[in-house]
Amino acid sequence: MKKINDNALIWFQIITIFPEMFRAITDYGITKKAICNNIINIDFINPRNFSKNKYKSIDDRPYGGGPGMLMCFEPLYLSIQYAKSILKNATIIYLSPQGTVFQQSNISKLIDKKKIIFICGRYEGIDQRIIDYYVNEEWSIGDYILTGGELAAMIMIDSIARLIPGVIKKKASIKEETFSKNLLDYPNYTRPKRINNISVPEILLSGNHKKIHFWRLQQSLYKTLINRPDLLKRVLTKEEKTLLDEYKKKYDK
Ligand code: SAM
Repeated sequence: MKKINDNALIWFQIITIFPEMFRAITDYGITKKAICNNIINIDFINPRNFSKNKYKSIDDRPYGGGPGMLMCFEPLYLSIQYAKSILKNATIIYLSPQGTVFQQSNISKLIDKKKIIFICGRYEGIDQRIIDYYVNEEWSIGDYILTGGELAAMIMIDSIARLIPGVIKKKASIKEETFSKNLLDYPNYTRPKRINNISVPEILLSGNHKKIHFWRLQQSLYKTLINRPDLLKRVLTKEEKTLLDEYKKKYDK
């Protein structure tokens, strides 16, 4: 039996017929580093390896008729049992458009689970008995239909990984980004100061940190109001309200 890396802070077992797709997170960037640094442990189980069929098929037609194929109970059940034998007490998550919609605010609770088994569906989905008897939670990444759960699992792992202590070194970059405080991020600029006759806003070059803070907060508030008014449903602080009113007065037609 495969041995897990005991030092990792979070363990993922992915049940998928396309483990190679996960190279997008195992072979690149910050997630690759987190795996190399033993912060994340990620492993794959292919249900085809548990198919008793000589063609290693894992799908069949749905009872009652209807379009498409479904992933069969047995290869998934055996995959889950194997995953659980490696990751004891893991939470079993089925990626599904019918699940709770995954949001930034859900991440810390998922990190606390420490051991997660993801089931990636394909075709028209999976036999309902797996969901009813073996799945603990169903998560969706949004109101649209993907061809499989792999991209959804990668998106969740990528966003979970960023918030695991030690993965991103500068804590401020996590604290000050979009969705923290229910606001979108403020606009950012880097060198050069001027290009194609377009300049960086003067205030960012002023060195006045208090003024820069207020300018950024004002930009965040206004962008959130325009692009994501739903996020601004929380009560604004007096300072936020003043900054937003001031901006609207200045720029609204
Ligand atoms: N027939 C299913 C339905 O109407 O709910 C959709 C099946 S979908 C074509 C195939 C697989 O993709 C699903 O089993 C699921 O694992 C995954 N999937 C599709 N959309 C998803 C989403 N929004 N979030 C997470 N997983 C998704």
